[in-house]
Amino acid sequence: MNKRKPIVAGNWKMHNTTVETHNLIKQIITKGKNLGENCEVIIAPPFTSIACAIEAVGGNYIQVAAQDLFWEDKGAFTGQISGPMIKEIGCSHVIIGHSERRQYFGETDESVNKKIDAAIRNNLIPIFCLGETLAEREADRTFEVMKRQLTMGLGSLVIPNALNFIVAYEPVWAIGTGKTASPEQAQEAHAFLRKELAVFRGEDFANKTRILYGGSVKPDNAKDLMECADIDGGLIGGASLKAEDFIGIIEQGTGI
Ligand code: PEP
Repeated sequence: MNKRKPIVAGNWKMHNTTVETHNLIKQIITKGKNLGENCEVIIAPPFTSIACAIEAVGGNYIQVAAQDLFWEDKGAFTGQISGPMIKEIGCSHVIIGHSERRQYFGETDESVNKKIDAAIRNNLIPIFCLGETLAEREADRTFEVMKRQLTMGLGSLVIPNALNFIVAYEPVWAIGTGKTASPEQAQEAHAFLRKELAVFRGEDFANKTRILYGGSVKPDNAKDLMECADIDGGLIGGASLKAEDFIGIIEQGTGI
């Protein structure tokens, strides 16, 4: 039986000024009172809104993530933000390897590996994103691509505790497109990732790791997706920007 505690994380991308951040968090807290009881709830605002988000959360059940970090802890790297900075401001998690970073900002399996290392070194929980493009799926390369991203992203890194490590399977063709993977497609990918994790990291590690699904999750498809045996929650983009939708996904997906 799946005893992993579900996680629903909202990736706000480049949305929400500090004022908008404050208002959205207050709406979520007011309208969604018991959401944190059976589920870990995370939001990832842009860097400039993180301090405001942490203040608005005010010790409530919502945890705050950064959307990226740089792999060095400090130095002459104009424009970058480091693990110690993210930790100090109060983040618990950091998203790494999102497909938009891979697609638009030159993120590679190698840089993802260095960033996961930096997260772990700084006691931040990485939300390690991977997934195939439409062309890769159509060329029947889905599993080969996922395996490469997983094994190169992890490399030989020591991850002391599987509970402090999260994988997000996000088929690129489903992100922001309104096309969701069917529960069968998503479950097949998640089961594959868990099997591969078991090969590289052992059964116990694989069984404890939360694997989230991301790609056009909405309140009306969350239940069917999150009911699948190997799907432990969702990484939500567009629908995390509206309090009712984000709350609806948590309620539908976790049966609260
Ligand atoms: C994402 O950006 O991680 C994502 C899943 O976006 P959306 O929910 O909008 O498809």
